[in-house]
Amino acid sequence: MITCSVSKTVTMMTKSIQLVAALFIFFGIALSGYAVAAGKWPWQRRIGSDVEIHHKQQHEERVKPEMWPTEPPSPDEINSAQFIAALRILCGHQRVGPERGQKFGAAILTNAATFEVDPFLVAGLIYDQSRCLPKQPPNETRRYGLSRIDVQMHAPHIRNQNYDYWIFENDEWVAKSLSVEKYPFNLWKAANPISNIYWTAAILRVFKEQQTSLATAFADAFQHKPHRHYVSHWFFGDNVQSSEPEDRVLTARRRLLEYYHDTQVASAGDYHGVPLVSPLDGVPRMVLDDFNRWRGKKRTGHRHMGMDFVSELDEPIRAVADGKVIFVGVDMPNAGSKRMTGEEATRFDPRKMGDGGRYVAIRHAEGLRTYYMHMDTIVAEDQTQIKAGEIIGTVGRSGSTHSGPHLHLEFRVDKDREDPAEYMQKVLVDPKRWSQTHAGVP
Ligand SMILES: [Zn+2]
Repeated sequence: MITCSVSKTVTMMTKSIQLVAALFIFFGIALSGYAVAAGKWPWQRRIGSDVEIHHKQQHEERVKPEMWPTEPPSPDEINSAQFIAALRILCGHQRVGPERGQKFGAAILTNAATFEVDPFLVAGLIYDQSRCLPKQPPNETRRYGLSRIDVQMHAPHIRNQNYDYWIFENDEWVAKSLSVEKYPFNLWKAANPISNIYWTAAILRVFKEQQTSLATAFADAFQHKPHRHYVSHWFFGDNVQSSEPEDRVLTARRRLLEYYHDTQVASAGDYHGVPLVSPLDGVPRMVLDDFNRWRGKKRTGHRHMGMDFVSELDEPIRAVADGKVIFVGVDMPNAGSKRMTGEEATRFDPRKMGDGGRYVAIRHAEGLRTYYMHMDTIVAEDQTQIKAGEIIGTVGRSGSTHSGPHLHLEFRVDKDREDPAEYMQKVLVDPKRWSQTHAGVP
């Protein structure tokens, strides 16, 4: 049951907070983060820590929230068996077996309904944060459980089985509270999968309620970054400092929706009449780095001969068209490649590889050959026929020592390379072309 009790407005309380703040300033006591703008929001600011960001620089330079189209809606009526099956595809059948799938899936649906948040969002967040594995990584001491709940961030706001929060209404901060009586809030309950899912849904509900208020209060704050979804606050607390984590979660959510509707092989366009599908699920997908861009220093650098997709370790990679596998193996240092089986390539020591890492090449009609590089695992086998949309392996960072996991895709025709983005605009969010068509738009 959800109870959002509206208390009376808090002019009195604001006054006393201002008084306290004045006393702090008078005695020269600096409260980090809070003293700066005590009059602006009447609570102890929530500050996220240990936020994982994978492509900080590229993301900051290139991506604007408005480049993304509206996110697809979740179905009104959710079939729970279908949801659980989709969740297991997203998480991976080895990690989430039938029993765990049933347990996690049912808890996500129940608690998302209780707190009126989107279960596809809850699942996307859990996948992004832990790949659905409840085991706590030994080096992670601040964020707990499937969704990595930042216990220190929320603990001061949860008292007497309520999450107390504020929203800005008619020029005043109004105190609200969300009833959260099912489990106490502590490290153990955050770590336990079932209570983690309960608290994840509850905290998302609080941020959902607060999103416009937080946008108003923190718009001018230090390091504030525009974003499009309240899930950003999950990572950063009140003041969002990057929109990369929300892009990751929403991509995982789109993947889950595709698995739910069984629409994961998305038509991407065509190469001179050869039908293409997206190599990655959860379209549209963001271009991380463009074809032909100069990399490195002026004289010692090289051109980027493919396009990079923003993607995460472990995502499935699909053949973009029908064809025949013509290479499976690894790129070796100092030119040359080593042909091997998918399994051998998967086991091969990444430290002994060249820049391309583990890769697969496929020959299609119209002289097109496609190359998929930096893979983590390979399941495709050399010299076999393959269908568009068939899984060839997973995203990794093999051979790529300077960047996080991503998919590097090349289109080769004879000795030439072409820009894959030219042919797959339908499934891309492409910052370069977006900027060209939106030139002059403030
Ligand atoms: Zn690349």
